[in-house]
Amino acid sequence: MLVDTYGRVATDLRVSLTDRCNLRCTYCMPEEGLQWLAKPDLLTDEEIVRLIRIAVTDLGITEVRFTGGEPLLRPGLAAIVARCAALEPRPTLSLTTNGIGLERTAQALREAGLDRVNVSLDTLRPEVFHTLTRRRRHGDVLRGLAAASAAGLTPVKVNAVLMPGLNDDEAPELLAWAMEHGYELRFIEQMPLDAQHGWQRDGMITAGDILAGLRTRFALTAEGGEERGSAPAERWLVDGGPHRVGVIASVTRPFCGACDRTRLTADGQIRTCLFAREETDLRGALRSGASDAEIAERWKRAMWGKKAGSGLDDPSFLQPDRPMSAIGG
Ligand code: SAM
Ligand code: SF4
Repeated sequence: MLVDTYGRVATDLRVSLTDRCNLRCTYCMPEEGLQWLAKPDLLTDEEIVRLIRIAVTDLGITEVRFTGGEPLLRPGLAAIVARCAALEPRPTLSLTTNGIGLERTAQALREAGLDRVNVSLDTLRPEVFHTLTRRRRHGDVLRGLAAASAAGLTPVKVNAVLMPGLNDDEAPELLAWAMEHGYELRFIEQMPLDAQHGWQRDGMITAGDILAGLRTRFALTAEGGEERGSAPAERWLVDGGPHRVGVIASVTRPFCGACDRTRLTADGQIRTCLFAREETDLRGALRSGASDAEIAERWKRAMWGKKAGSGLDDPSFLQPDRPMSAIGG
């Protein structure tokens, strides 16, 4: 198992399939000038499947989420999903995507064995979408969402980040829309993972702001009570249920004590945390002929060294060198 010195066990693997993307969300990527990973440095489909197999069969991983960059840009995605769905024990397979291209691919991904999708959509206003993502693709995302639902990739979750002065007034509107379409909406606090290193704590929209905004229109009750052990409530019943809304407060209410994640970048590096500044190279091991047991051992050693927390509140906090698009959110 992937255990760390604080007794946490990682069972959830996030796999970044590419650092490239067809959007340029301001909180993630710069408009231009970001250096892509070099093709030979990227793991091949074969290498990705091998690492996921080791994680699932030898290291106790039960959930695999594909992400990026934009994972739908990876040509071999459906085949990778199918090979992961054939593993024993079969992991739960999900995808985080911006939804562009999902209209074409949702059914095939479902047939390959994908269980669920999270689609990122921050606004219902096409003009605001253009400002936030620097691309005019709002309609593609809405069609991708509908296709995901129709293909049974459910529950379809929608991830939204609120940015000051752009879409920070949209929380109630987004929730009403999500409930109407049967999507489960989750707000994610903006984290310091933008390529431009422009994040400012003072300016960010906090979970408190989001909840206050939602409460102007809906009654929210914390699922499982206000406090769930060390982690504050993340899911809220809307107007008594059955609809729910999530608020993921990685900055203002961190839940590192309950973290069960391990991450693999598109170039084969293990990261123990989104905010880690060290990585462990598995690509080198793969390409120098290491056995499955040696790779598993290296992965375990990496996770054993996982830090207690993100360090965001530490005055010496330094943003990781890689932006979110190259880590895999
Ligand atoms: N391209 C896909 C997408 O947008 O869903 C997958 C990768 S993206 C990095 C994964 C998630 O991270 C998205 O929901 C996105 O909104 C979120 N994200 C990116 N940068 C972020 C930041 N600085 N703070 C919080 N969430 C961020
Ligand atoms: Fe691309 Fe996703 Fe980053 Fe937006 S958040 S730029 S869609 S990787």
